[in-house]
Amino acid sequence: MRSKDLIDLSDDPNLIPGIYNYCDRWCERCAFSGRCLLYATEKAEDDDPASRHINNAAFWHKLASIFAQTQEMISAWADENGVDLTPSALAEGEEHNDRQQAQSRNHPLAKIAEEYAFAVNEWFENEFEPMEVFSDTTAGSNDDDEHDEAVNDYLEVIRWYQFLIAVKLIRAISSRLEEDEYGDEEWHHSDGSAKVALIAIDRSLSAWKLIGELRSENGVSIRKLLLDLEKLRLHTEREFPTARDFIRPGFDETSLDILQ
Ligand code: SF4
Repeated sequence: MRSKDLIDLSDDPNLIPGIYNYCDRWCERCAFSGRCLLYATEKAEDDDPASRHINNAAFWHKLASIFAQTQEMISAWADENGVDLTPSALAEGEEHNDRQQAQSRNHPLAKIAEEYAFAVNEWFENEFEPMEVFSDTTAGSNDDDEHDEAVNDYLEVIRWYQFLIAVKLIRAISSRLEEDEYGDEEWHHSDGSAKVALIAIDRSLSAWKLIGELRSENGVSIRKLLLDLEKLRLHTEREFPTARDFIRPGFDETSLDILQ
């Protein structure tokens, strides 16, 4: 995509500013894809199918053409926001970020979320035949097909959120460290990220419950995962008590015109 096209896109009044900052990146299932700059940018790139192919010159050309414009945009944002991009400031910032990242990853909440993600992997290894998940549902009886499709839908939800929960919680913890340090009262990014994690947990809980109803043979192992997730949900709500009140651009705005 050309630089001008990108600028034209970002000026589109139909787009909701910053909506992609607090989403789950599941664009296929997103009700707001028509109002998201990130989605519009990626879709515009997809219009040139060759541009996605790593061996095609168009792919590298696209990256090169966006790189120059991206640098201009970053410099302008850095000036506007007083961000120091000199080498010494960057080195200092890097050390600080590493420390913050380590602190966030070692937080008990992050640990529990990571444990859940790996427990899900184990569940798939132990409770499913390798070819069973997302198998072809075009053959067999209608009832069987519907049953398999439903299970696959719920499994897709589990898989989508499995690691995203930990990623969003680590980001929430890291943002909170920054907010504590810089006293950023106006925007609580930490609550925004924690809210996305909580929504992912809620949806995963529902998906596990529904899978359990359809696959009674996995009942015991699913109950364990439900308990683990519920604990994670309660810990998250305790750590981020105002997260559910965070208003995410687009998703939590009450005006119905947003869905039109
Ligand atoms: S807001 Fe929706 S369309 Fe945009 S990046 Fe997030 S999930 Fe994808």
